[in-house]
Amino acid sequence: MAHTIFERIIQREIPATIEYEDDDIIAIRDIAPSARLHVLIIPKRAIASVDALSDADAELVGKVFLVARDLARTFGVHESGYRVVTNTNGDAGQTVPHIHFHLLAGEPLGRMNSGTERSHAAPKGGMLRDAGLIVLCALGLAITFNAMNSKSIPWLKKEYERITLDSSEITKYITPTAEPQQQPIAQPQQPTAAQPQQQVPTATVAEQQLKQEQPTFVPAPGVVREITYTQFKTFLNAGPYYLIDARGAEKYAEGHIANAVNFYGGEAEARIPDMLQAVPKDRVILIYCDGGECELSHHVADVLKRFAYGPIFIYTGGWAEWITKK
Ligand code: AMP
Repeated sequence: MAHTIFERIIQREIPATIEYEDDDIIAIRDIAPSARLHVLIIPKRAIASVDALSDADAELVGKVFLVARDLARTFGVHESGYRVVTNTNGDAGQTVPHIHFHLLAGEPLGRMNSGTERSHAAPKGGMLRDAGLIVLCALGLAITFNAMNSKSIPWLKKEYERITLDSSEITKYITPTAEPQQQPIAQPQQPTAAQPQQQVPTATVAEQQLKQEQPTFVPAPGVVREITYTQFKTFLNAGPYYLIDARGAEKYAEGHIANAVNFYGGEAEARIPDMLQAVPKDRVILIYCDGGECELSHHVADVLKRFAYGPIFIYTGGWAEWITKK
């Protein structure tokens, strides 16, 4: 079973800021804090969520709250106030399937129900009014801000620079290591009396062949280009690459391009440590998602670009086109 990010933090495979640890529990700073103080209190045992708790876990859960209490005291927020919450499954927005409790504090935290989507439960009038007021205020502020700025801000989604790769540029990124040799690689020769046979170790021949076939990696930090199916195939056939499928885990599980590694674009920011650890810097990076606007691929590319990866190529046809070409 694949390890969750929290298991990997517990096993020290990826870094985190640890605020507390004992045999059963670890508490770390949230990588994308939702409040001035945001600590995740994580039971070490791999329990998926509150729903997977058993009666025998009562003590463990009780201990989580005692750790929350002590951390709140340590950070001096026990009197100003704090919140301990946990998300369970999709509707609650759980993104890491390893039980964890958010300790939030350090500022007024607003109402508990803000941000909820109620399609079934009838909301109480007061709550509906509050939600409406918040939305109106936010809209008003955004419109005013935009009107006062010459550069309008993207409200709904981040706008990415979309540059398509000119096919004539491909050779910039696929540079053969050596000129094709005129002579074939040394073949075993029949020994003569005057000249005994020179042994050519097999490994040497293989190495030479490999060296000839592998293109040199030409780093281009921060370069992100959109590519077509044909260009994508050229890179796949050309040599070392790192292929990322930026779609959600479910779609990836249903089918993906061979050798693709899954980094969901919607979690690109939260998965920065993961990506930095996994993605090599010595080869071109190819990314695809469903195809079309490629928002998910651009999210991943944007993060990698910030850490000086490149060249990065986004296959805009994506999975939708790929399956029609098979
Ligand atoms: P939830 O959405 O309730 O499953 O919470 C998961 C939390 O884990 C989110 O608040 C993320 O920001 C946080 N998170 C994800 N990856 C990391 C990480 N590598 N280090 C610290 N926090 C993380």
